[in-house]
Amino acid sequence: MQDVKPNWQNYVDGSWIDGGAGRIDVFNPGTGEKLAEQALADAGDVDRAVTAARRVHLSGALSDLRPVERGRMVQAMGRYLLGHIDEIAPVLTLEQGKPLWEARVEIEGAARYFEYYGNQAETVEGRSIPLGANYFDFTTYEPFGVSAQIIPWNYPVEMTARSLSAALATGNTAVIKTPELTPLTNAWFAHAAEAAGLPEGAVNILCGLGHEAGAALSAHPHVNQIVFTGSVPTGVAIASAAARNVVPCVLELGGKSAAIVHDDADLDAFENDVRWGIYFNAGQVCSAMSRVIVHESRHDELVERIAGVARSLSVGPGIERAEFGANMGPMVSEAQRDRAAGMVSDAIAAGATAAAGGRRMNIPGAYLEPTLLTGVTPDMNIANEEAFAPVLSVLKFRDDAQAIEIANGTPYGLVGGVFTRDIDRATQAARQIRAGQVFVNEWYAGGVETPFGGYGKSGYGREKGREALWNYVQTKNVAIRLRS
Ligand code: NAD
Repeated sequence: MQDVKPNWQNYVDGSWIDGGAGRIDVFNPGTGEKLAEQALADAGDVDRAVTAARRVHLSGALSDLRPVERGRMVQAMGRYLLGHIDEIAPVLTLEQGKPLWEARVEIEGAARYFEYYGNQAETVEGRSIPLGANYFDFTTYEPFGVSAQIIPWNYPVEMTARSLSAALATGNTAVIKTPELTPLTNAWFAHAAEAAGLPEGAVNILCGLGHEAGAALSAHPHVNQIVFTGSVPTGVAIASAAARNVVPCVLELGGKSAAIVHDDADLDAFENDVRWGIYFNAGQVCSAMSRVIVHESRHDELVERIAGVARSLSVGPGIERAEFGANMGPMVSEAQRDRAAGMVSDAIAAGATAAAGGRRMNIPGAYLEPTLLTGVTPDMNIANEEAFAPVLSVLKFRDDAQAIEIANGTPYGLVGGVFTRDIDRATQAARQIRAGQVFVNEWYAGGVETPFGGYGKSGYGREKGREALWNYVQTKNVAIRLRS
């Protein structure tokens, strides 16, 4: 196995420290072996990090800079990540499981956020509002202050980059709570902040247990804004803590997103997309295509094609998969794999059929076969709850209205998709699907520029795009009465 440093620390106020909550073992889900140890922060460490971030905020060291200067620092952080991609990618693969080439894609995506929001720093500008000859009035946008960012394990580098780059570009400071399962790669954000010349204490990165460090961070009275991506119950806990302190939060809570495949769809294109849609990152993507709702006339052909894709994937340790290709790594942990495998067995017991995969793989590590379930009906649990796994459920429809009804029939609404050659049908579906983003004829279309976030239980607030900037600033109006 590739050598990974054995002991990892937390980064608070410009120093590397252990934590008050001991250490946690980090495992390689590709083999089940221990990879390294990570120091765990307790509430006291969280307090030190928030205090440092607050001090930097109040000093104006970031918020008083000319935006172009902040923007340059943010962009430098992205360049640092790209410059160290050969170091970061193997650690990401070893702690998270994804194939090495996917880890590189994630780090490139992370760097792109810093590039994009570094550029956007200069676009946050107010306006003057005419109030007649006796007044001069203007509106400005000021950073909230300390942004608390609680990060999930499925994209630990990209999710941190997404919120950290926008927060810094708008002049906030940050405390990042990294995920217990995949804390290691976040260390490079500390190195990047130092290399970019950010003041000590502007970026703090600590790992801790969710119910301990995570809860302490979300309830801290000097946190001014919270960003969270993860499960619904944790989102509810964080939003409740935010409400008690009357601070805003952005919640991105996953989904059960559906692709509607019409009778006129280009199935060659769909076949290519489905591989990314559900088997990329072993399906552990909040916007994964976890349901396909297909017109009954194309059902059998589509199932055959998707089953072919699922069976063609070579599954094994991500570290051995450096080349872009038809492959898949393990899930992040055996617990996550067992939870998903349990959902698959329950679906089969409820009447679904595994047209491909469906089982744990009999090798060490957190492997689940790329799975395709047919005969799924809208009432089944697997059609409504996030498996967060390489598990795709196929449902049938007869007419367009029924397709939309099934697509909208879960409590979630993160993304949706429609595959058709008919522009009217596509546009109507885009209007009718209740989700924050709709893809037409390509899953995961869009980029860092396109706003992203949920309807319903998928959360609220928007990440990505210009919209995300408004998460990190508050509006101030200045009305000046002129003496005549
Ligand atoms: P989780 O929501 O519990 O954990 C995500 C983050 O929240 C971690 O950093 C964790 O330490 C922190 N956290 C946990 N409890 C907290 C609390 N009380 N206060 C503050 N922070 C807290 O997710 P999980 O248990 O790792 O995974 C469970 C399920 O969540 C998955 O099966 C999947 O369905 C979903 N999930 C979704 C996403 C997504 O991108 N939407 C990401 C990860 C997990």
